[in-house]
Amino acid sequence: MSASPQPFDGHAISPATAAFLGEPHLLFIGGEWCKGRAGEAITSVDPATGLPLAEVESGGVAEIDAAVAAASRAFAGPWGRSSGPERSRLLMRLARLLERDADIFTELEILDNGMPGFIARLTVNNCVEMFEYYAGGAFRIEGTTTTPPPHVTATAEALTYTIREAVGVVGLIVPWNVPLSTLVLKLAPALAAGCTVIVKPSEETPLSAVLLGRLIAEAGFPAGVVNIVNGPGETAGARLSQHPDVDKISFTGSTEVGRKIVQAAAGNLKKVSLELGGKSPVVVMPDADLDIAIPGVAMATFFLQGQNCMAGTRIFAHAAIHDRLVEGMAAFVQSFKLGHGLDPSVQFGPLISAGQAARVCGYIENGLQQGATLVTGGGKLNRPGHFVPPTILTHVSTDMTVFREEIFGPVMCVNRLETEDIEEIAALANDTVYGLSGSVWTRSLSTAHRLVSRIRSGQVSINCHGAIATNIPFGGYRQSGWGREFGKEGLDAYLETKAVTARL
Ligand code: NAD
Repeated sequence: MSASPQPFDGHAISPATAAFLGEPHLLFIGGEWCKGRAGEAITSVDPATGLPLAEVESGGVAEIDAAVAAASRAFAGPWGRSSGPERSRLLMRLARLLERDADIFTELEILDNGMPGFIARLTVNNCVEMFEYYAGGAFRIEGTTTTPPPHVTATAEALTYTIREAVGVVGLIVPWNVPLSTLVLKLAPALAAGCTVIVKPSEETPLSAVLLGRLIAEAGFPAGVVNIVNGPGETAGARLSQHPDVDKISFTGSTEVGRKIVQAAAGNLKKVSLELGGKSPVVVMPDADLDIAIPGVAMATFFLQGQNCMAGTRIFAHAAIHDRLVEGMAAFVQSFKLGHGLDPSVQFGPLISAGQAARVCGYIENGLQQGATLVTGGGKLNRPGHFVPPTILTHVSTDMTVFREEIFGPVMCVNRLETEDIEEIAALANDTVYGLSGSVWTRSLSTAHRLVSRIRSGQVSINCHGAIATNIPFGGYRQSGWGREFGKEGLDAYLETKAVTARL
């Protein structure tokens, strides 16, 4: 028998977070807080207990249309002609407000998503940094100059220069796995570029976007520059992707929904950026430093309970170190403290929902049926919340479903590597439709760089995995996505280039 759940698993939350949870959570359209016309709500649930946290107003087609109209008006108004330094000041103000309220955001991310406290704190701090970084970026939106060839102006003297301009009205559709962070890494550069936006958070994690909306109003962004519409993907998300007055969609989520967005965007040929799924390879060579590789490879898979697009989930462990690596990782993950993220000593939280836990357990069973060996972990734990422990499967062959499909949960699949041939290993690593991340663990510089140059992924790390930072570009090859986020490329994604030629 499992114990009956207690609110927040018996942990206290701050009065400010409790007050926010008790208040109405409305839609933010054209600078006003409003209800949806249909009177529908999303129930936010604490994944660590399964208990409801708050009711959140839900919008659909009508609310998206109203938000797009507000964003279009705002883009046609003074914001559309605002200078980079003006936008920079607003972004810096927003950074300071987020810093002021960082404790509330940290608790909200823990409660809404289930992530451990140390990860929530890290992501909120990183969001502050993203607003600061792109506040700097707003100052550096610069074109180039060149001299056109004679045929352009019939030999008269001429000058060509380029202007970088905002793409326009942009829809930001985000997932649940790191709710605030996946939103801010789009919002900060979009605002720095001068776009106006409609945010569509995930139904699973609607809360932090609502609180951020309050800070956006407090910072002084003009009405309609940022609109926030919680609502279902199939209605609100689909309408935003298809809307003829939206100039661009930036989407983070599953490859399946990414494909639907591309189809919906075809109507007005809006620009599309996609950050999608992954099944990233981790290659551990015979000369790897196991003191680094054991915790490093384990965290490559199990960070955020594996609900992490860049998770390293296809482990190619060379036969020479296979057993020591697996034994070391099993002992390492068995030491994790599982529980509610509000407990500061917790290292491993629940999965987002009962459905996700069932899906992940289905994959584990499928792997075992196809011949894998269970080293540690297994099914859902008999306790409140959606907890599935870190699970390691060995004897996984490269054709098994668990080795090919994105599980998005705490399941590591280890393949025993019998070769040291770089070309053979690269072919195995690249035998996937994805290309988001990857890592190589070796003491040999030569082996590392030869493998890195052959692995078809947007991010490949050496003796570490998933290097994510505000100033490092991130994105996928192949079916892991289109475009890059973070860094300078993250800002470029919200800018057009206009070439101006003047006959002198
Ligand atoms: P999801 O694709 O189910 O949902 C993402 C968002 O799309 C949600 O806001 C949802 O409401 C919306 N949506 C759903 N159907 C839609 C439709 N028809 N039209 C428009 N919008 C729609 O993804 P998820 O379950 O929230 O997140 C998990 C997935 O996200 C995983 O596949 C993971 O790999 C991926 N992800 C990728 C990155 C990255 O940077 N590459 C980062 C985080 C998560």
